[in-house]
Amino acid sequence: MDERWDLVVAGAGPAGCSLAAMTALEGATVLLLEKGEQPGLGRDWIVDVESTAFEEAGVPPPGPEASWHRPGGQVMLSPTGGTTIDLLPPPVLPVRNGAYVRQLAGWAAESGAEVRTGCRVLGIVLEGEAVTGVRVAQHGGGEVIIRSNLVADCTGITGALRRGAPTDWDLGGEIDSRDIIQARREVRRIDPDAAAHWVKRGDIPNNVRVDKTGVMAAYSVESCHLDIEAGYIDILVGGNLGGRFPTADEWFARVVRRWPFVGKKIFGDGGIIPVRRTWNSLVGNGMLLLGDSACQVIPMHGSGTASALLAAKLATSAVMHALDEKRYDRQALWEYCRAFQSGRGSILAFFFVVKRHINRLTGDDIDALINRGMITAEDFYNGLVPLPFSYDPLTLAKKVTRGVAILPLLAGFGLSGLKAERMMKHYQEFPPSYDRRDLDRWISGLPRVT
Ligand SMILES: Cc1cc2nc3c(=O)[nH]c(=O)nc-3n(C[C@H](O)[C@H](O)[C@H](O)COP(=O)(O)OP(=O)(O)OC[C@H]3O[C@@H](n4cnc5c(N)ncnc54)[C@H](O)[C@@H]3O)c2cc1C
Repeated sequence: MDERWDLVVAGAGPAGCSLAAMTALEGATVLLLEKGEQPGLGRDWIVDVESTAFEEAGVPPPGPEASWHRPGGQVMLSPTGGTTIDLLPPPVLPVRNGAYVRQLAGWAAESGAEVRTGCRVLGIVLEGEAVTGVRVAQHGGGEVIIRSNLVADCTGITGALRRGAPTDWDLGGEIDSRDIIQARREVRRIDPDAAAHWVKRGDIPNNVRVDKTGVMAAYSVESCHLDIEAGYIDILVGGNLGGRFPTADEWFARVVRRWPFVGKKIFGDGGIIPVRRTWNSLVGNGMLLLGDSACQVIPMHGSGTASALLAAKLATSAVMHALDEKRYDRQALWEYCRAFQSGRGSILAFFFVVKRHINRLTGDDIDALINRGMITAEDFYNGLVPLPFSYDPLTLAKKVTRGVAILPLLAGFGLSGLKAERMMKHYQEFPPSYDRRDLDRWISGLPRVT
């Protein structure tokens, strides 16, 4: 097959579809390749997405098919259930991921990108020191090469392209098992009368989402939102599981067994999410990484959709600039890398340090931190925006006074906060243009996170 494109995008998730649509709209010739038979197939979980992200990224907001209900309220329970925090109305929209991805893939096609499904991308084609295309599996065996000036790895945690890149492009390696979340989220039918009985007993509220934190590992959440009037329950479990903990699927099955009123699945799926700071670089010669493939996820709770959309906007500008200049090397694409790393990437890096700290705590520790007001509704809200924690002197003094009884925990939390801030500042000072020595200096200056 003799074909050549300006840009080949591997993976039709939120990142890949948005990048394909935006670059095609700007006049690039774009091919979007998806291994599934349909974009979004088998990935129909609800994603809570920052409500400002769509406008900021310049992508269409979710249409009626892709929109889901907001709960009437939301509370957070500490691991032992001893403390309940009424959460502030979360600044997020619940979106059906599968339907939204199909909407975005449709937008890419309308914008002029060619979308091919059932096409598994095997890796990059490297010639000299640059990527010049991708290898794609052929139905019935064998592979074909598709040539392009640029390729984008939007294959999520698979990282199908980045894994074959030269190591000195710094596009990451294996993800540490501490930085992988397993999650499952399903919406299920309910028997309304039986559910009303459980509500009456006080076991579960109606139309309030209850997030139980630290149930399995310290870094885990079990969340249920029962809506008797609408006739469903939305259940999410997720965390850094495995080992002595059940898998997300086993945990999910336990939650379903706990509530006899829960019936068949309406929609929902499970998957894994990378929760580490972004890789040291997001571009190579002729190549860009976006979305989960670049680890552009908020490490505190595994939300990656907004970052994927925002990255697509930044990457579009770098891709179009490279095409105009007919220069496809790392230097030419660097502005995407710089803009992401020094902006949103720095906030993600902040939360990565906090998350690694939380990983080491026990359920009792989390309980004590919530109990003593060290972690508050405002902190949860900031994690969703996402905004780094920053306290005025009065709030800080109050926290310290209340935390005296748990001094070691308080000190650990404080130190991790300081390190998180150092990490954020380091990302903000990401090298403004590509220079090997500057990048090496930046990498060697990264705060050590254990
Ligand atoms: C259960 C669950 C709940 C979640 N909840 C939230 C939430 O509340 N809020 C939020 O913001 N995020 C949430 N996330 C994370 C969010 O779904 C991801 O961060 C987001 O989908 C990342 O988008 P992406 O485009 O980078 O990658 P993906 O959505 O992973 O898309 C990658 C695409 O690439 C395709 N692909 C993979 N390999 C190849 C290959 N070799 N060739 C061709 N195609 C390939 C895949 O089939 C897929 O379509 C959740 C994830 C899970 C699993």
